[in-house]
Amino acid sequence: MSAALDLLAELDDVGRDPRGGWSRPGFGDAVAAMQHWFTEHAEAIGLDVVRDRNGNLWAWWGEPARDAVVTGSHLDSVPGGGRLDGPLGVVSALVAVGRLRASGFRPRRPLAVVVFAEEEGSELGIACLGSRLATGAVDPAVVAGVPALAGAGADPDGVGRIGRFVELHVEQGRGLADLGAPIGLATRVLAHGRWRVRITGRGDHAGTTRMADRADPVVAAARVVLAIERAALAVDGARATVGRIEAIPGGTNVIASAVELTLDVRADTAHAVRGLVSRIEEAGALESARNGCGFAIERGSWSDEVVFDAALRDELDAVLGGVPALPTGAGHDAAVLAALVPAAMLFVRNPTGVSHAQEEDAADADIDAGVDALERVLRHLAA
Ligand SMILES: [Zn+2]
Repeated sequence: MSAALDLLAELDDVGRDPRGGWSRPGFGDAVAAMQHWFTEHAEAIGLDVVRDRNGNLWAWWGEPARDAVVTGSHLDSVPGGGRLDGPLGVVSALVAVGRLRASGFRPRRPLAVVVFAEEEGSELGIACLGSRLATGAVDPAVVAGVPALAGAGADPDGVGRIGRFVELHVEQGRGLADLGAPIGLATRVLAHGRWRVRITGRGDHAGTTRMADRADPVVAAARVVLAIERAALAVDGARATVGRIEAIPGGTNVIASAVELTLDVRADTAHAVRGLVSRIEEAGALESARNGCGFAIERGSWSDEVVFDAALRDELDAVLGGVPALPTGAGHDAAVLAALVPAAMLFVRNPTGVSHAQEEDAADADIDAGVDALERVLRHLAA
């Protein structure tokens, strides 16, 4: 087995979820164990590991300094996620940097591997939390009271030193599989937002309340979910997802008094997302009213569409001898950093396109091709 496959195998049993896949919440035991694992491997190849005040780990080759070439990804996962979303970028970075060191390569710029904290936002509900805190894109007040993030905020010693950033990631779609290519470069990330929806009805007795007398928010929620699907289908390329739904208080013989659900909406532009969400809001209120229920929607996180630096992409494309360029609907730390510095993403083919589920996969040969590509890119950028 190659070094990358060996390292991935070491993580196989960490955070396995008995329901399937891996569950590695950003501040849980599995991620703590993986951060320890990362520190040991980074130190073993001679890197100096420091933790910044936002929970991100930085493994520096030599003295930290400005204009650094930085690569890395994240180790946390969604509940029941796949084994590659995040760890593939970290493992590839460790192997690529280890090989550069072993080859006697002398970087002309500082080089670092970073592991960003809470990328999936599964604990605090804010995706890319570590990179957003470090870049100042979110107010540290949102993490007040989180002990692991005491002192969080903009970080000139880490993110402030990045000159150019490259994140390797398993593709979360079938773009490369359809093109028959093992490696590709990202062009842009769709605009993306998360909302909380609350449908309010009237709690009552499941046995004594006649059907005609009910204001049942669970029935209203069913209508709302279907309305969301209809609205999203009407916008080319848009995606709208209700990933969590909770009846409150949640008793078998109780008509719920409220239902809370999450809404994740993505589309080509911020304008398209906002338009879709306002249509969902209108339809949601109408559908809820049919069951005598109220409808409220509140925005959580928000990310504008991100276009990756075209000059950097062209440069890497030349280094790699010409690879496909493709957009993605998934958010990434690289997209957060792209607001500040030239950033790029290398994608590794995912044969089924499935991600955020245990079927997420990449062929061994493609994983190795990704490591090779990252090594060439880092050698070029740091030379
Ligand atoms: Zn990821």
